[in-house]
Amino acid sequence: MEKELNKIVQFIRELYKQPEGFIPLHAPVFAGNEKKYLNECIDTTFVSSVGKFVDQFEIEIAKYTGAKNAVSVVNGTNALHLALKLVGVKAGDEVITQALTFIATANAISYCDAKPVFLDVDKDTMGLSPKALLHFLETETEQKPDGCYNIKTKRRIAACVPMHTFGHPCRIDEIEEICAKYNIELVEDAAESLGSSFSGQHTGTFGKIGVLSFNGNKVITTGGGGMLLFNDEKLAQKAKHLTTQAKVPHAWEFVHDEIGYNYRMPNINAALGVAQLENLAEFVKSKRQIAQEYARFFSAADLNITFFTEPINAKANYWLNLLILEDRKSRDQFLEYTNAKGVMTRPVWELMNNLPMFKDCQLGDLSNAEWLADRVVNIPSSVIL
Ligand SMILES: *Cc1c(COP(=O)(O)O)cnc(C)c1O
Repeated sequence: MEKELNKIVQFIRELYKQPEGFIPLHAPVFAGNEKKYLNECIDTTFVSSVGKFVDQFEIEIAKYTGAKNAVSVVNGTNALHLALKLVGVKAGDEVITQALTFIATANAISYCDAKPVFLDVDKDTMGLSPKALLHFLETETEQKPDGCYNIKTKRRIAACVPMHTFGHPCRIDEIEEICAKYNIELVEDAAESLGSSFSGQHTGTFGKIGVLSFNGNKVITTGGGGMLLFNDEKLAQKAKHLTTQAKVPHAWEFVHDEIGYNYRMPNINAALGVAQLENLAEFVKSKRQIAQEYARFFSAADLNITFFTEPINAKANYWLNLLILEDRKSRDQFLEYTNAKGVMTRPVWELMNNLPMFKDCQLGDLSNAEWLADRVVNIPSSVIL
């Protein structure tokens, strides 16, 4: 095993042209107008929550993704919180999501005082399984005039939040159809999938709202930041209102017409975003090339290790590349060896249903999520320019 692992470490070192030193999982690249735009913020004093970069970033993200409107916020987690609120998730409701996801998805549901229901993912997308979703809705729910109800818990199932794991689009077309049939609002956690599309349509634009993140390790970064994507202009206006403390627009009066939030993205973050966005096409191209190199290496290497490639009908941004190892023991060996050699790798997140806060949540059969959690490792995926 050690000889094989050494071969992998050497390959990654050659790929990143870094014969020694630490190779991170994902480092941001600032190769464009970042400094110029940041200086402009400081020179004009527009560093805070209004400024031309905020408007520009929103317009350009909408254009890039094909969404009708985009509203920027301070991070992806509160983008999810706001999205759930906007589609009508209320205290006591339930929200369906996948057990294999980053904690932000489940936390955002909790911020609404709603309860997550954790369902399985597909092995070939790592995103919510439409089969699992349909099975749960067919067997566990009933329709009432005001929506879909969980027969066991008597709670309303207000929304469904699939996630496009590591930038690989899930079967979002089928999920969209099922949600529509069962009167459940669809919110897409597209935090990891800027630059990924399904059947030619950008992820995050299938649901009523889609959510992006610009955290430091995402495809592009604003330091911290998030975005909501809309096809409904009225809902986008409502989002802007809520992120602005629900302040009624007026030249000097301070009147607020509901409980709002201070969730707006500052101009300096948006300045970084505008500069990063100018290079997004290059970034995605580079990431897809890196994935190709990995795919070639692992298919030739005869190692009992599978390099995960994009699902059918999908074009992935390959945000974080991943391998599927033989079992949990070889996964742990892999993690131990590569990290000791200065090549950063990591396992997938602990499944949400195993965390203490979510121990009593309702679950579907989670065979695929458990299978993947035992075997998946992420490997270095930074852009190479
Ligand atoms: C990064 C991420 C988020 C949001 O993260 P922030 O750090 O709050 O921007 C949400 N969901 C998933 C799946 C993510 O990977």
